[in-house]
Amino acid sequence: MHVFLSLGGNLGNTQEIFERCYPMIENKVGPILKQSSLYRTAAWGLTEQADFINQVILIESDLRPEEILTEIQAIEQALGRERKITWGPRTLDLDILFIDQQIIRTADLQIPHPHIQDRKFILIPMQEIAGTYEHPVFNKTMIQLLQETNDETAVNLIPNP
Ligand code: ADP
Ligand code: MG
Repeated sequence: MHVFLSLGGNLGNTQEIFERCYPMIENKVGPILKQSSLYRTAAWGLTEQADFINQVILIESDLRPEEILTEIQAIEQALGRERKITWGPRTLDLDILFIDQQIIRTADLQIPHPHIQDRKFILIPMQEIAGTYEHPVFNKTMIQLLQETNDETAVNLIPNP
């Protein structure tokens, strides 16, 4: 299965935390097939906090959806995520965006992730690595969703060193 994951963080050295999480994802979930650039985004929701760094990656995985969730939550924990306030600072947030064209709506797992169409920090990196990928609920490509989103937040490409 093709799994798109969103990575985000705004506490500590986020680029280093991302570097540490890639091998953990490859060991526990599956090989990384594609990686977007890194983007810098003003905090969404609670705005009085540090900018976020965001990225989207594509993985090949044989795990069941609930197993993927369990594994990414263990990686978040291992890298020291502290949840104190909703939408507050976090060292690492891993979210599942899409699993092939599956639609899952349970208490613990919503696939596709319910806010993709509202977040330029997801749509821009998705467009970079999979612009013609179709959202299975809206039947629109990432390019179309990005054109239509109401999100006005600035999302800036972080140049490669
Ligand atoms: P958020 O990502 O919304 O800021 P959390 O990372 O703390 O908040 O996630 C809260 C809960 O969201 C998780 O415990 C998980 O059960 C649930 N969840 C539902 N759908 C997804 C998904 N697609 N990816 C990751 N978590 C999800
Ligand atoms: Mg999350």
